[in-house]
Amino acid sequence: MQHFPIFLAVQGQRITLSGGGEAALAKLRLLTKTEARIDVYAAAPAPEIETWASEGKLTLTRRALAEGDVDGSALFYAADEDEVEDARTAELARAAGVLVNVVDNLHDSQFITPAIVDRDPVTVAIGTEGAAPVLARAIKADLEARLPVTLGPLARIGKGFRKLAEALPFGRPRRDFWADYYFNAGPRAMDEGGETAVRPALQSLLNDHLTRPQRDGHVAFVGAGPGDPELLTLKARRALDEADVVIYDRLISKEILELARREALMLDVGKEGFGPSTPQEVINDLLVEHARKGAQVVRLKSGDSTVFGRLDEEIDACDTAGVTWHIVPGITAASAAVAGIGQSLTKRGRNASVRFLTGHDMRGFADHDWATLARPGEVAAIYMGKKSARFIQGRLIMHGADRATPITVIENASRPDQRILSTTLDTLPTDLAEAEMTGPALTFYGLAPRAAALALPEMQKELA
Ligand code: SAH
Repeated sequence: MQHFPIFLAVQGQRITLSGGGEAALAKLRLLTKTEARIDVYAAAPAPEIETWASEGKLTLTRRALAEGDVDGSALFYAADEDEVEDARTAELARAAGVLVNVVDNLHDSQFITPAIVDRDPVTVAIGTEGAAPVLARAIKADLEARLPVTLGPLARIGKGFRKLAEALPFGRPRRDFWADYYFNAGPRAMDEGGETAVRPALQSLLNDHLTRPQRDGHVAFVGAGPGDPELLTLKARRALDEADVVIYDRLISKEILELARREALMLDVGKEGFGPSTPQEVINDLLVEHARKGAQVVRLKSGDSTVFGRLDEEIDACDTAGVTWHIVPGITAASAAVAGIGQSLTKRGRNASVRFLTGHDMRGFADHDWATLARPGEVAAIYMGKKSARFIQGRLIMHGADRATPITVIENASRPDQRILSTTLDTLPTDLAEAEMTGPALTFYGLAPRAAALALPEMQKELA
């Protein structure tokens, strides 16, 4: 992040702008919405600027900016659309210690003005560090359409009610009240009776919440999918939105964690295959402890939480403690990985069943029904299979599997750094060692990438 977004208090501050043309007008349309004192210097101001000056929205000086004019300003805009003049005025401002924006010149600007969605006092600022103005405009248009125009008045009325709402305990009860206001009671009152109906609606909503029994704590076991945040379910999104506490594993991607409520307590209980880990009992205790305090707990597990996730131990802990829970399914690594190679998990005439295996369990390398797996046409998705590749190869060959059986290893499935290794049972351990995969990897036994699929991820990236 090269630019840090902040909201600057400009009430009663001076903002100075040099210029009187289109660029100046564009900035002034925004600036005149603020409570700052706007000073404009322009030898030939556009008629609109003259009008704003006569309406008292800004102070206009009909000459070029000179030394001393910028002194004491909070911000300065060089908006003459003339390289030489902009450089001159920007220098004057810099010398006066004022933050400078040279319109349409990112390089010489100390700050930039974002695209803005204005629902005063709710303001959304969108910045792309100059990388993609088209994108910023598209996001703005999207938000403009999505945020009701009544949001501004609702927020203003809500602000005046904050003191009264403190009658509710801090934390979830108060948050629930405000969520109820902004998303249900507020818009409804506004629709039915306009602004004057909103405050009485707030009052009765508060009474309602004050007399409501407190919500009990609860644990949601949420599958976070293989890493791509777009592969989260809508239910997973909502659970993250509502979570007070998020207890997550090592494989959960940063992008997904960022979707959690900012106030949520984020607890990393990362577990690494064979490596250091948070003991399962500690995780169980954390779940119970927070739920008992009344928290909405999200236990975020990679992929689907019912697949190699030690889910049952955590459910048992909840049951023993009398904590309620539910499961939100997620996309398991095998589903994402098979999509990455353009194949099906099952295929008529090839395999009518597919096994999900783990390369190792708590005791070490896991044992399986190797004799059955060694038969032609078998397909298995092997989780945690990197370290056990040689062991698995040995067992299968010992039970008569064909050395030429295709094997595909998909690292970081669904993520931007996804890699595909297409090999055979014969060369699996050596090819895998050579590939030096450090991310999570899923091994498909009995599946080769569909011929055209290997090139696909790159193509998709280019289209994105
Ligand atoms: N519950 C998870 C699996 C947890 S076990 C699920 O349903 O996917 C962890 C193993 O899952 C890893 O060792 C790896 O084999 C696999 N895995 C998880 N995310 C993956 C990804 N993005 N790409 C490839 N394999 C992944």
